[in-house]
Amino acid sequence: MAFEGLSERLQKAFAGLRRKGKVTESDVSEAMREIRLALLEADVNFKVVKDFIKTVREQAVGSAVLDSLTPAQQIIKIVNDELTKTMGEAAVPLVKAPKIPTVIMMVGLQGAGKTTTVGKLATRLIQQEKARPLLIAADVYRPAAIEQLEVVGQQVNAPVFQLGTDVDPREIVRQGLAQAALQHNDYVIIDTAGRLQIDEKLMAELTDIKAIAQPNDILLVVDAMTGQAATDVATGFNEQLDITGVVLTKLDGDTRGGAALSIRAVTGKPIMFVGQGEKMDALDVFYPDRMANRILGMGDMLTLIDKAQQNFDEKQAADMAEKMRENTFDFNDFLDQMDQVSKMGPMEDIMKMIPGMANNPALKNFKMDPKDIAHMKAIVYSMTPAERVDPDLLNQSRRRRIAAGSARPVQEVNRMIKQFNQSKQVMNQMYKGNMQGMEGLLGG
Ligand code: GDP
Repeated sequence: MAFEGLSERLQKAFAGLRRKGKVTESDVSEAMREIRLALLEADVNFKVVKDFIKTVREQAVGSAVLDSLTPAQQIIKIVNDELTKTMGEAAVPLVKAPKIPTVIMMVGLQGAGKTTTVGKLATRLIQQEKARPLLIAADVYRPAAIEQLEVVGQQVNAPVFQLGTDVDPREIVRQGLAQAALQHNDYVIIDTAGRLQIDEKLMAELTDIKAIAQPNDILLVVDAMTGQAATDVATGFNEQLDITGVVLTKLDGDTRGGAALSIRAVTGKPIMFVGQGEKMDALDVFYPDRMANRILGMGDMLTLIDKAQQNFDEKQAADMAEKMRENTFDFNDFLDQMDQVSKMGPMEDIMKMIPGMANNPALKNFKMDPKDIAHMKAIVYSMTPAERVDPDLLNQSRRRRIAAGSARPVQEVNRMIKQFNQSKQVMNQMYKGNMQGMEGLLGG
């Protein structure tokens, strides 16, 4: 997970503060030293770290904080707010052109994930707006690039405009835009050439394409795993092209997080999306506040809720809430829920979004085997309809029958029933408590 190291170290610094009843200025200095080191180790830009620490310290040593009843909580809140600000406060959406097509120009170094991101963006637009994007293949230098875009286009069901590798990219863009006008495409996404490094010829070409296409957004794709280098690349591209935003890819493989924390502060340009995997749906809107929460181990309930909303239909969710409230959740619901939850992605990723879970040592190597889910389902399927609605019926002889029916050991059947009862209890409590507990995490 991104920010793993940073998250752990920040929480250690806070644990130190929390242990003290009364926090002094020198305790704050000690915590700031630790936070500073943690940020530098996460590969955050030096100047960003310096400004960050200065601002947090100024607020933290104020008497309103130190004399309060919960100084540690308040300092965590200050850090949380400052992390959010550093990453840009609110999420920045794509610009929508007043008349079609909206043109998005993608730029970036080779290997950053540009072509993949073109496909992911197209997927997103198709799914969320039923858009009809046209993808333009303007990378004529890397022979496989056009082919790759064709493959991506087929995967996501979007047409690709290309003229092979012998035509000047400027001309390709001109003709591609004409084609989009003819076909009434509402979006055009231009995949431009990348290089291993920024060079003048590339920049001249991109500047020309920008002038021709007049894009509504110029998105720079950078690889999060390159840390500080990603920030330098962003600075370089921004100086030449005045980009509108950044897509930070490979956040799934970035354990440090330096790029995410530096880019906005250094370039003034927002991170708009993050890539979190190779699949076409692995593109998420970047929410600075949620990311800050995640870094501080407060989980990412909002993303979790978003994912749930995308995957559960509203009626089902309302039914489920009703059942939680009335405590009538049964094994049929359990089956439904397993199906819904497995659509949200790997269980271990979902668990980490829950507050307090991200750095839970028990989860460090936790992997939920899809086979386990299949086994649980087999067990439920071996129950009679009456047993599924009324788990209290499940006495020993029935459990033995279910074990035989599902070809699972009886201990496993027992364990699952126990887990079911426990989660039912937790759900009921959560519902009753209206998730009040969660507010306590931030303190006031
Ligand atoms: P381009 O040269 O910038 O067009 O880069 P590509 O789109 O060809 O991507 C380079 C490699 O990075 C490919 O293997 C992609 O599958 C991979 N990639 C792109 N985005 C992500 C991401 O968000 N996460 C992971 N893990 N891999 C990614």
